[in-house]
Amino acid sequence: MSLPHRRGPRAAAALALAGLALLAAACGKEGSPPVKGPKPEQLPVYQVATGFQLPDSPTWRGARRRGHLVVGAKEDQPYLGEKDPATGRYSGFDIEIAKMLSASLGFDPKTLSFRTIASANRETALQNGQIDYYVGTYTINDLRKKQVGFAGPYFMAGQSLLVRKDQKGVEGPQDLAGQRVCSASGSTPLQRIQRDYPKIHAVAYDTYSICVDNLLSLQVSAVTTDNTILMGFAAKAPDELKVVGQPFSKEPYGIGVPRGDTALRFALDDALAAHEKNGDWKKAYDATLGLSGVPAPQPPAIDRYPAS
Ligand code: GLU
Repeated sequence: MSLPHRRGPRAAAALALAGLALLAAACGKEGSPPVKGPKPEQLPVYQVATGFQLPDSPTWRGARRRGHLVVGAKEDQPYLGEKDPATGRYSGFDIEIAKMLSASLGFDPKTLSFRTIASANRETALQNGQIDYYVGTYTINDLRKKQVGFAGPYFMAGQSLLVRKDQKGVEGPQDLAGQRVCSASGSTPLQRIQRDYPKIHAVAYDTYSICVDNLLSLQVSAVTTDNTILMGFAAKAPDELKVVGQPFSKEPYGIGVPRGDTALRFALDDALAAHEKNGDWKKAYDATLGLSGVPAPQPPAIDRYPAS
């Protein structure tokens, strides 16, 4: 598909539709495999722990009674957490992290049930017991630690900017004064532009895919969130979108757990360490997020902060 490089405002809607169709096709909306996505046989297979017990974790006991884990995730973040609308299947790096941890807790990853939870609803979902844990570009910070617990971190991202391919002169948030910039409600990148760049007109939606639609239809000048997420969108529509400038924050990704369940948190930390050591983490990265163009980094040190 080739799209015009120069266009008037009247072409904007057509462009947005074309962009959306492109993204939808790239995401396998018609049931076709994602353009550069991994085939199932390229993904690691995780050894399910036999005889594993975690009696001190109410979350684990509940899952055992139920027979499977319920994990919160994103469904519209390319290479991280994506749901194929044709099959209902989730894929991506965060999904692989959820699966490897499930195997370590003694639950076959095939039995995992995923629930899509938007950025703004994560703490409530964990507090209400809607999910057992959450893996979806979830930054660990002190404010959130008052409401939930975090295992990890399992990855270090940084806030960045996504613009249309033909935009010039945007290298950082300082170049966007007076312009509309989109991010997700309840996210750290939205909070950061509201706090540190008051001249930017921040626009918030539930998801980043809605922000990207707004960027393609010229409703906003940029989308801001983690570089990982933005690179995924850019990799799926390289003729339309580009990530610009340098990351301007540190976003350590954690696995969200119910706050009081320290036994579960430490078990997930142990499991993550084991999967980093045995090569699963890197294999999972290479088969998912690695496809958006950045070679596997070293995973960050696991925090394992004491119970409070
Ligand atoms: N990592 C950031 C956060 O947790 C942005 C990505 C997201 O909204 O999931 O708020």
